Amino acid sequence: HADIAMYEAKKSGRKIVFFDDVMGVSFRERIGMERRLADSLARESGLSLAYQPKVDMSSGEVLGFEALCRWKDGEEDRSPELFIPAAEETGLIVDLGRWVMEKACRRGALWLKEGLRVPLAVNISAKQVQQDDFVLMVDRILEETGFPPELLELELTESTLMKDLDRSCSMLESLKELGVSLAIDDFGTGYSSLAYMARFDVDILKIDRSFMPGKEAPPLNEAIVKSVVALADARGLRVIAEGVETEEQRDLLLRIGCVSAQGFLYSRPVPEEAVADLFSRGFGSLQPSLR
Ligand code: C2E
Ligand code: MG
Ligand code: MG
Ligand code: MG
Repeated sequence: HADIAMYEAKKSGRKIVFFDDVMGVSFRERIGMERRLADSLARESGLSLAYQPKVDMSSGEVLGFEALCRWKDGEEDRSPELFIPAAEETGLIVDLGRWVMEKACRRGALWLKEGLRVPLAVNISAKQVQQDDFVLMVDRILEETGFPPELLELELTESTLMKDLDRSCSMLESLKELGVSLAIDDFGTGYSSLAYMARFDVDILKIDRSFMPGKEAPPLNEAIVKSVVALADARGLRVIAEGVETEEQRDLLLRIGCVSAQGFLYSRPVPEEAVADLFSRGFGSLQPSLR
């Protein structure tokens, strides 16, 4: 419809600059970026994965890593907040997402050969799960790379799952049969009721970082996190807090009973070279008094 808008604008002789909803990038810039991203993927240059540890805050143990896509657009590092939505819109995310999963599983299989059983999570977009062969693709990647399914976690968002409920339920079931773990990412941000979401047959709820309690955060956040933890307990799910940046947040989360976390307090996403060391070393025992 951007084309139609452009045509209308030309016809009426007005000069209009087009902006879309992705961080104020103009239409023209966006098209160029999408083309270069497709090109990067085709040539497998400029793309990489960064890995952010998930930590047991009571012991400092590293539980696993989330693989996050990185793109160097020429000299510029582009944020996934910018290029992932662009890839979703063009449909390139289907190929890009496959590349990410393959890359992570291949890397994970190599770590395994070196004696490290590193659980890895990858993000999955709605467009990917809408493909009829999505489950087959996951299965094929696991088989080709030899990465054990029980070490792979797929992060799906609420909106992805809400798009087609029946389809989502049967897809989650098939994925479960493969032996992978399933997480709901950015939990709490999808405009769907918490109780409703917790009924999906998943293993993990990742509490969105906008709910992290803190000095400037709304006091309600603590109550929200508490209720998610209670919900997860009742359903036998694991919870993990995203975006833990301060010691105050860590202490509060531990008091609430949310032990697992991911956040800058522990580590930013790191290059793959740093994973093995971080995984074996962990963060030490941090707050024995809180246990
Ligand atoms: P996400 O899946 O919720 O990933 C967590 C994001 O939060 C990452 O941003 C991470 O760097 C950031 N983060 C972690 N801890 C903290 C913290 O303490 N404070 C703050 N302020 N941020 C923190 P990143 O890597 O920029 O990725 C942004 C989003 O892009 C991801 O959010 C995910 O939705 C998407 N994304 C990244 N890689 C992929 C991918 O391979 N496939 C898909 N479909 N989406 C991806
Ligand atoms: Mg994620
Ligand atoms: Mg998230
Ligand atoms: Mg998020």
